[in-house]
Amino acid sequence: MRNGKREIFLKAIRGEATERPSVACVNQTGTYEQMAALGIKWPDSNFDADLMAGLAIGAHTILDLDAVRVPFCQTIEEEALGCGVLIGDEKNLPSIATHPYDIDMTPHFPEDYLTRGRIPVLCKALKKVKEEVGDEVAVIGGVIGPFTIVGELIGINNFMVATLKHPKMLHEFLRVATKAATQLAQALVQAGADVICIEDMLASMDMISPKIYKELAWPWEEELTSRIAPAPVILHICGRVNPIIKPMIATGAAALSFEPKTDVAAVKLAIQEEGKKIGVIGGIDTMKDLFFGNPEIARASALKAAEDGYDVIAPGCSIPPGATTETIKAMLLQETETC
Ligand SMILES: [Zn+2]
Repeated sequence: MRNGKREIFLKAIRGEATERPSVACVNQTGTYEQMAALGIKWPDSNFDADLMAGLAIGAHTILDLDAVRVPFCQTIEEEALGCGVLIGDEKNLPSIATHPYDIDMTPHFPEDYLTRGRIPVLCKALKKVKEEVGDEVAVIGGVIGPFTIVGELIGINNFMVATLKHPKMLHEFLRVATKAATQLAQALVQAGADVICIEDMLASMDMISPKIYKELAWPWEEELTSRIAPAPVILHICGRVNPIIKPMIATGAAALSFEPKTDVAAVKLAIQEEGKKIGVIGGIDTMKDLFFGNPEIARASALKAAEDGYDVIAPGCSIPPGATTETIKAMLLQETETC
């Protein structure tokens, strides 16, 4: 019997050969067209478990991707740790409005963390996604990397200064953030997640140096990944990741997700040099191919991604919500001559 979407994705993220290219998105998948088709919109679907699950499942039923993922936004851990959140609207995701700490304060990990903010909503949504489509597609639970969580706890400008001038003062913050991400990831696995995707946006080489990555982001990504095991982890870092590819491999992640500005041939070579089997995810430019692009452009990029050896053809970061269904579905390469 041929493998289904779920099996193909779970093999592909481990760098194993599959009968067709896996196509998915490991970052947010909500689009305005799906919202209109399903009658489920933002901001409500960022606050209600049934609506969150309902819109997420569109990645399977409408976009025909191999995986479904919750949540859409990147604010849930931070909110539960005390950040103020703007709820967003139909067009915009929730965002962080206030930062509860200064660098010289001592961060506090709330013992009732898993019951705070929208964490119960997210866990319930994931459970519902698993119950409804978990036999057909892979279910991805999204968490934020510890480095990025700390950036929001103290404010990004203060944080960037601290990484250079007071790195030791960040240690306790990073410990608390890692505990928060770990507890959420474990709760999502318990709710039925097949895979956890860690998005560590601020650990991008657009924001920090490889040295700071190795000293302040990497150790906590590695610890978080080890605590999510045996569930597989996808590590997503925005931007061009070539300067940090060896440490990213050393986190123990099953798969790495990055933007197409990264030299994928160099990534594949580095994985080979380390003697590992790690899936590479991406190849599609979210803006050029999906937002400003069209089905022909997206299709050409998907074919190139397959040729370049991506194990999962995917947008290099979150799907722009204004991207059309037709353009996103042009990434699907199911009907190749090998079928
Ligand atoms: Zn990204």
